[in-house]
Amino acid sequence: MDKSVLVSADEFARFTEYQASLKSTIPSSLNESGKPTSCLVSSSSKWVIDSGATDHMTGDTGILSSFSSHTNLPSVTLADGSMTSVVGSGIANPTTSISLSSVLCLPNFSFNLLSVSKITRALNCFVSFFPDHCVFQDLMTRKIIGRGRESGGLYLLETPSMKVPKPIACSSTLTPLEVHYRLGHPPLSILKKFFPNFQSSSYLDCETCQFAKHHRVSNLPMVNKRVASPFELVHYDVWGPCPVISESGFRYFVTFVDDYSHVTWLYLMKNISELFNIFCSFCAEIKTQFNISVGTLRSDNAKEYFSHPFDSYMSENGILHQFSCAHHPKMVLPRKKIDTY
Ligand SMILES: [Zn+2]
Repeated sequence: MDKSVLVSADEFARFTEYQASLKSTIPSSLNESGKPTSCLVSSSSKWVIDSGATDHMTGDTGILSSFSSHTNLPSVTLADGSMTSVVGSGIANPTTSISLSSVLCLPNFSFNLLSVSKITRALNCFVSFFPDHCVFQDLMTRKIIGRGRESGGLYLLETPSMKVPKPIACSSTLTPLEVHYRLGHPPLSILKKFFPNFQSSSYLDCETCQFAKHHRVSNLPMVNKRVASPFELVHYDVWGPCPVISESGFRYFVTFVDDYSHVTWLYLMKNISELFNIFCSFCAEIKTQFNISVGTLRSDNAKEYFSHPFDSYMSENGILHQFSCAHHPKMVLPRKKIDTY
């Protein structure tokens, strides 16, 4: 019994145009008039979703998993009325979820045609066409079992081979250290995952990372040993100027903290020049009230506030002046919460 397969005139015209473009040495992206046109299917692994075809068809027996040749298969009638014989049939699996049975094999046929009417019956699905894509969905569950994309007026089935793999590795002409700088100092083990050509590198000589990862020795000797008697060591700290002047006009304050007792004296100042007189008053008060002289004065700042008379006063009274390392917690007295004053 003869069996015919119909291909629409428009489709046949596209097929012949494509076949001509394959034989031509002119790039297929240019047509005769020189205007750019879209490139049609150029790979035998691509399947054209064809609503006009009565059967799945291919010219490549290599994509059929169980090809069997038949001599009594019907001929296929193309849109131009010509007949072409079918040499066999088989099963094609363009995707994991779409299996095409009874795919007719036509010699010298450049396309793989996926018959919409055949697949909807075989897989119990429906096909929705959109301007730039189409989807195959199961009739019962509506689950998407396949997709197609529009290309040059044809809908092509999306197959794994059409998906361009995303780059998973980079190559670089830069040295590992330069890439390390540019990417924000990632470890070498991470860089090797992105740059396979860095596999031979074993060490990144990055000074910044070495300093950043360097830990401070935890068992530094305590520089500031507690003194044995009151006022043997007095810490002082000058703060200001305050951006907001108090109602009384004060903008600075100075604190004197006895290292032995941690008792704190706080003096407000309108001007930093008052510091010398305040210190003289503090020493006089200690001398009068406790009959003790201040032994050593220590601070991590306020060097600039000490004038020549200040230094003369300290030397005349035998007071030692020490400056500790700024912001070094081991050399300054644990700070009181003087903001509560
Ligand atoms: Zn680094």
